[in-house]
Amino acid sequence: MNAPVSNADLIEIDQKHLIHPLHSSAGVPNSRVWVRGQGSHLIDADGNRFIDGLSCLWNVSAGHGRQELVDAAAKQMSELAFCSNYTGGTNRPAIELAERLAKISYPDINNFYFTSGGGESTDSNFKLARSYWKVKGKPEKTKVISRIWGYHGVTFAAMCATGISGYWPAFEPRMPGFSHIPSPDPYHYPMPEDGSSQGIAAANELEKAILAEGPETVAMFIAEPVQGAGGVIVPQADYFKRIREICDKYEVLLVSDEVITGFGRTGKMFGLQHYGIQPDLMQFAKSITSGYVPLGGIGVSDEIANTMKESGGVWMHAYTYSGHPTCCAVGLATLDIIQNEDLPGQAATKGTKMLGDLHSALDDHSHVGNIRGQGMMMGVEIVKDRADKSWFGADFGLGAKLGKAMMDRNLYTRVRNEVICIAPPLTTDESVLDEIVEIVRDSVVEVLGS
Ligand code: PMP
Repeated sequence: MNAPVSNADLIEIDQKHLIHPLHSSAGVPNSRVWVRGQGSHLIDADGNRFIDGLSCLWNVSAGHGRQELVDAAAKQMSELAFCSNYTGGTNRPAIELAERLAKISYPDINNFYFTSGGGESTDSNFKLARSYWKVKGKPEKTKVISRIWGYHGVTFAAMCATGISGYWPAFEPRMPGFSHIPSPDPYHYPMPEDGSSQGIAAANELEKAILAEGPETVAMFIAEPVQGAGGVIVPQADYFKRIREICDKYEVLLVSDEVITGFGRTGKMFGLQHYGIQPDLMQFAKSITSGYVPLGGIGVSDEIANTMKESGGVWMHAYTYSGHPTCCAVGLATLDIIQNEDLPGQAATKGTKMLGDLHSALDDHSHVGNIRGQGMMMGVEIVKDRADKSWFGADFGLGAKLGKAMMDRNLYTRVRNEVICIAPPLTTDESVLDEIVEIVRDSVVEVLGS
């Protein structure tokens, strides 16, 4: 018997045996079996070619099919595919990657712990923050504040910080000690009536929340420099500086979740570099290997790292795959690409041009409420009514309709919270970026009229 090769045959078997992230049978009719990636394109089992409009979840920043990354993995696997990094063991790629990250990340962040992805990194930061405050003699500092529309993963603890409420109901009750402040979302956050800054008002929500919880109980505030999965929300220019001040005032650790924004996507190597501030802890995943192998991690400030080292205790936190030599070798090869090809610079230039093109193509459409972006992260927010900024709502099925219209035109991306998310590989040719703009416009017109 021949092995099944068509999209339809493979999907039938998939349905029998494979459980997916965000598993739902509703999505099956549009499913594709991806068999090949080439640059900014994905090819399915029937040979159809699609633009990868979201870098396979904000991930494949260096593009598909990079032989350097394949070679780095093969070389490391043939020498030493895996070894444990528990105390007493270490390996060259993990050591080199930590050293290299110290050079390119925020100046005060020089120590790194590796994980296999974003959610594990979030949990690692929760645990590090708690253990740090215990060592500092403030064991009551355990609470985590995050933001509505924030996404930090879906391990149980990370899910509690994630501020997209759809992720909660099936698993409640959530853990105590987690709370959310509003997103600074410049399109939806109310304008202060006294004419003061919207960004400062949104940041001051953190101060209110810390005071409500009791500053002596709050361990950390976690935020993405650009809220990604929540709908590409770029904060006001003055927001994060005020957040830093508030964190300093109340001794609350500022944790920058750079799982999407890390390694160039926003036009700078890391997202808070746009605002001239540093976090106390950071976390990353995805683009560090361009998604070729699973790798994530946290970066730790000198103050926290030194405090933990001087305590002399054992940090009882461990993942088998922390510092995985093959993953770290691919991370090093990916950093070569990111630096040699100046991916942050490419993201800045291409993103600025593309954002302008999206405005030109869609500003006049009566259902386009807001177009925004930073670097190669862009969002087109669809509204039912521009006057009150209301959404169509779940019954209208905007995401499914737009998703299908874009797939029919060979663009693969996601619509989240009525926002079309656009984040192609940073290496994407300008002509393909033009094609994306055209497809998004044509799809909006097909679904919502001209
Ligand atoms: N943090 C952010 C900002 C993310 O975007 C994501 C994933 N999209 C995560 C954490 C979770 O990462 P993972 O799916 O690898 O657990």
